[in-house]
Amino acid sequence: MSENKDFLRTIVEEDLKSGKNKEIVTRFPPEPNGFPHIGHAKSICINFGIASDYNGHCNLRMDDTNPTKEDTKYVEALKDAVKWLGFDWGDKVHFTSDYFPKIYDYAIELIKMDKAYVDSLSEDEIREYRGTVTEAGKRSKYAERSVEENLDLFERMKNGEFKDGEHILRAKIDMGAANMKMRDPLLYRIRHIHHFRAKDEWSIYPMYDFAHCLSDYIEGVSHSICTLEFENNRDIYNWVLDTLGLKSKRPYQYEFARLGINYTVMSKRKLLELVEAGQVSGWDDPRLPTIAGYKRRGYTPESILNFCDGIGIAKANSMVDVAQLEFCIRDDLNTKVPRVMCVLNPLKVTIENYDGNEELDASYYPDDVPKDGSRKLPFSREIYIERDDFIENPPKGYFRLTPEQPVRLKHAYIISCKEVIKDDNGNIVEIKAEYYPDSKSGSDTSGIKVKSAIQWVSAKDAKRVEVRVYDRLFKDEAPEGIEDINPDSLQIIKNALIEPAVITDRPDERFQFERQGYFYADPIDYTDEKPVFNKIVGLKDSWGKKKKTPLKIAKSQTKKVQIDGEVVAMSESEQRLFDNYTGKLNLNSEVANTLARDEKLSSFYEEAISANNSPITIANIVANEVARELKEKQVDELKFNAVQIAQLVKMIDDTTISNKIAKQVFEEMVKSGENPTKIVESKGLIQISDPSKILPIIDEVIAKNPDNVAKFKAGNTKLIGFFVGQVLKATGGKANPKVVNELVAKILL
Ligand code: ATP
Ligand code: MG
Repeated sequence: MSENKDFLRTIVEEDLKSGKNKEIVTRFPPEPNGFPHIGHAKSICINFGIASDYNGHCNLRMDDTNPTKEDTKYVEALKDAVKWLGFDWGDKVHFTSDYFPKIYDYAIELIKMDKAYVDSLSEDEIREYRGTVTEAGKRSKYAERSVEENLDLFERMKNGEFKDGEHILRAKIDMGAANMKMRDPLLYRIRHIHHFRAKDEWSIYPMYDFAHCLSDYIEGVSHSICTLEFENNRDIYNWVLDTLGLKSKRPYQYEFARLGINYTVMSKRKLLELVEAGQVSGWDDPRLPTIAGYKRRGYTPESILNFCDGIGIAKANSMVDVAQLEFCIRDDLNTKVPRVMCVLNPLKVTIENYDGNEELDASYYPDDVPKDGSRKLPFSREIYIERDDFIENPPKGYFRLTPEQPVRLKHAYIISCKEVIKDDNGNIVEIKAEYYPDSKSGSDTSGIKVKSAIQWVSAKDAKRVEVRVYDRLFKDEAPEGIEDINPDSLQIIKNALIEPAVITDRPDERFQFERQGYFYADPIDYTDEKPVFNKIVGLKDSWGKKKKTPLKIAKSQTKKVQIDGEVVAMSESEQRLFDNYTGKLNLNSEVANTLARDEKLSSFYEEAISANNSPITIANIVANEVARELKEKQVDELKFNAVQIAQLVKMIDDTTISNKIAKQVFEEMVKSGENPTKIVESKGLIQISDPSKILPIIDEVIAKNPDNVAKFKAGNTKLIGFFVGQVLKATGGKANPKVVNELVAKILL
């Protein structure tokens, strides 16, 4: 169980303690109209997790009351997802459609109590009669129908005597209720549609508000946990159960915040659009945030569970950074999977003084990973290295092979460049090199100093493989749809070369390709003739920073060699720093690792936190932004200093500027060396928190998007994110997101 108890578990514990519930029964109730996504994973973790923590039970229930878009293939996908995440729903999957007869009987009961009536207004009239937030609604004249007439009409609705929309069953509650949902909500509508399970038995289908509470009751659910947008529906939920007198062992509804993740879309409707438009290869495209997509890409269930656990359960909607999910998979695979060598963009190297045929022993795991296993690495005269691991005229700080600088071939020898062969166009096609026989990894007596070790493969032994390099599907942090797709989200490398043991031994399905990232043997397209690997995630977060030139990417990889523990283990003093950072200062281990292993960074960091005691925010900036600058420069070459970074963070902490703006200010500091407070003042970057400044912008956004306003008013409350995003955009990211959120909610609701 999670250490920090969330508010739902607190409620559950109180209910058990007070004797309100003897057994905890929850349910996960998806509508089978699309593949489940990471948001569903969160709901699955909550519902199944709570049931299991308190020795209860969680039902998997298909909420199949809207036959137009539902299908068995989605039922299967939902079952797969729950199973893959490691949960068990017991002996059977439940379906709301199994309860149609019972739900129908409850409707009859309400009619008999004069608590429900058949209305015959048109859809437009119903909307009109509902009133507005400030005005009470007006009841339909049909509400005066007698119980007998209602019973007769309802039965005929069921028998299929009327057309769609001709009549509708409504609860008789209160057309003046402050909660608009309580203004005689709809209970049953006519739909002459084939249902994928109930077939053509029904011409009427219950609405969510009627079916859900009753299904929960029928299944003996104790805690009905749903997302925040159903908060106002809770009154109907209670009204139905109370009015029907379903008192004993009745369920109660609790709401939590939906999970939103940046750089992706999440609703099944939007995902379906991408699938149908052919923008992705299917629901399991590795770029989609679907469970099937993550599974195909190579994510592990553990990483997703850890992610869901880590983000916690909140009562206010928020956006989670996808980098957090990426961190979880990296963290999971780091100590689990074999490390092997694959060259994605090969450059031939001929080692002129080597004629042998050696097989080198190479462990699959670094020393600090408590796992055993090794393979033979064939070494020969002709090898391939990564094209960007050689540069003829290197910039300062380039640590790999150059005409002057030797490099170690990982697990093998040190080589140096003797000659660069070019084609007629001046492209480098081959390197002639020399190796040092006494520099063999593990028994190196050469005394030659190198700054990094690179991956390589033996030309005659390497296997050709296809590598699919996936990047984020959207380039926009808050994408609206297809127009924001990242054109470079998939790069297919047909002729990558991999060391032979990966293919012949297949020690695992997932690998770390040294210095490249984590990869997964594609579960569908991989064959012995044509092995295919999917990139799961890189070794380090490369987003959030500006798009880099290829040269800079190359450099950041040098960095990786140092920090990923491949070349140097942590020294004692580095270890001490690391322990202090992860312990007392509470930094995450990735950031702590970056700082502790780099003297320049750790002393910069220490100086900054002594000027402003905000260790986490400062650590993030130093480990990312400052580290990027220090790749090419020494500290005294920087135009800014640690104290100024401390000032920058101070402005974030006291909400003078947003995180987003802080990045902008940092870029300016890099260029001009100006004081951050000056930059903020002179460029007018101060965060706008004053409602009177934000309100006019919200008005403008509302005026510009009448369609979305209508959709929102019609119940699509998720659009709130859209409006907030537009307002933030309009202020160039300067508006205080929290204030905007509150104001938008107040105005629209
Ligand atoms: P979508 O709009 O993405 O299609 P939905 O809410 O319509 O989602 P359902 O199939 O009705 O999807 O949801 C099943 C369960 O999963 C519900 O209890 C719902 O509240 C929950 N759920 C759906 N999306 C999220 C999310 N993003 N975060 C947390 N829970 C979610
Ligand atoms: Mg839905």
